[in-house]
Amino acid sequence: MRTFDLIVIGAGIGGGSLVYNLLRQGFTGSILVLDRGGNIASGASAYSAGGFRNLWTTAINQRLCSRSIQILGRFKEEMGVAIGFQQTGYLFTYYEAAWKQMPKVAEVWRANGVNFDLQTPAEVEARIPGLRCSLAEVDPEVREYLGLEDIKGGVFGRDCGSFDPSQAAVAYFERAMNDFSARPVLKLNTEVEAVTFDAAGRATGVQLRCAGAEETVRAGIVAICTGPWTNELLDCSGCPQEDRMPIAAQKRMLFITDFPDQDPRWQTIPLTIIDHGIHFKYESGSLMIGKARQEGPHNLDTTFEPDYYVDEVNLVMQERMPATATCKLKRGWAHLYDTNIADHNAILGWHGNHPNLLLQVGYSGHGAMESPAVGECLAELILTGRYQTVDCAPLRWSRFREGDLVRETIVI
Ligand SMILES: Cc1cc2nc3c(=O)[nH]c(=O)nc-3n(C[C@H](O)[C@H](O)[C@H](O)COP(=O)(O)OP(=O)(O)OC[C@H]3O[C@@H](n4cnc5c(N)ncnc54)[C@H](O)[C@@H]3O)c2cc1C
Repeated sequence: MRTFDLIVIGAGIGGGSLVYNLLRQGFTGSILVLDRGGNIASGASAYSAGGFRNLWTTAINQRLCSRSIQILGRFKEEMGVAIGFQQTGYLFTYYEAAWKQMPKVAEVWRANGVNFDLQTPAEVEARIPGLRCSLAEVDPEVREYLGLEDIKGGVFGRDCGSFDPSQAAVAYFERAMNDFSARPVLKLNTEVEAVTFDAAGRATGVQLRCAGAEETVRAGIVAICTGPWTNELLDCSGCPQEDRMPIAAQKRMLFITDFPDQDPRWQTIPLTIIDHGIHFKYESGSLMIGKARQEGPHNLDTTFEPDYYVDEVNLVMQERMPATATCKLKRGWAHLYDTNIADHNAILGWHGNHPNLLLQVGYSGHGAMESPAVGECLAELILTGRYQTVDCAPLRWSRFREGDLVRETIVI
């Protein structure tokens, strides 16, 4: 039977960052990376909008994302791979009630060194072609039906922007396999059917299925970076209910449209969040638009629904930005968030019931931007027994049992 010091399940940006950072920090053990997909980043990492921001309500997300932004900004130079890093900012817009809370939120951001500018409605309008903050010209019945209000102000996050998470994942694995003598083994098209445990609860390895054949591989540490499929894997591993994570798979869709007009400013707009969480950004000559469906079912369905764009997104968007009524849907896709339904934050570090089972799951839609920093921190945990760059202890598995949730409210 083969044995590895570490088995990583999941070859997305999370798994990639963990493996690369471990090797960079001096790990010399043997590593096996497993993914059932046919290529690196075949899960959510390939379908992400790739937005990054340090505008969060929780200090841990501010810290992790500020660190990730530093890493992403130097990625091309240090990893030799262009990942489409663009620091064009994030622009959040606010109705009256939320805008009144802004001084309190802004105080925390200032204290944590987050770079941002408060924006008047006129400044918001100046950043986005055709956007109108006041809806005085819209039929009051339409406003009420769609639940729209005037925008009273905005926040522009200067450090924020977007990148390509699948390129980053590929770069992490390529560098991990080419730059270190402890070359990891990457096995794609390989399903992990179960994590195996001994009687004391220590993970002993994994049971695999590859091309129809079953195999058991032993490991010193098993790292789970399996996104929305995590509970499925734990169930198949015979783990009891108390081992499971409060994670639900939630479908998210992104829509690619043409521009409303020929205004060249579309190419440099910030990632902008308007009514009911509708967000849009520039994406290779098109607009990329999304909107979370809050009430959506929790399952693994990834059927793309173009009607959702027409009925739920564009209908609202065209009141705020009339020219978008003509934006044609070119294509789009659906994939899954691994939403932590308890507090909308990742679950990181050792599993409390299984001392050598490492978790990097439950990212709730912000894993692309946090993985670069998290990989660094989890590598520190494995190698030295403690976090150094950013203390990720607030995101430990046991917080749910301890009633010590880290509730994030700015989720889109
Ligand atoms: C539409 C959409 C938009 C998003 N936008 C953003 C954004 O703007 N910014 C941001 O930061 N994040 C965003 N996200 C979230 C982000 O993409 C994820 O948090 C991130 O990619 C998670 O990376 P990961 O490596 O943990 O998971 P994944 O990339 O999902 O990788 C998990 C891997 O595990 C493998 N796997 C699972 N179970 C098994 C098994 N039993 N055996 C073998 N392999 C297995 C899967 O095949 C998969 O490749 C978005 C997500 C979606 C769906």
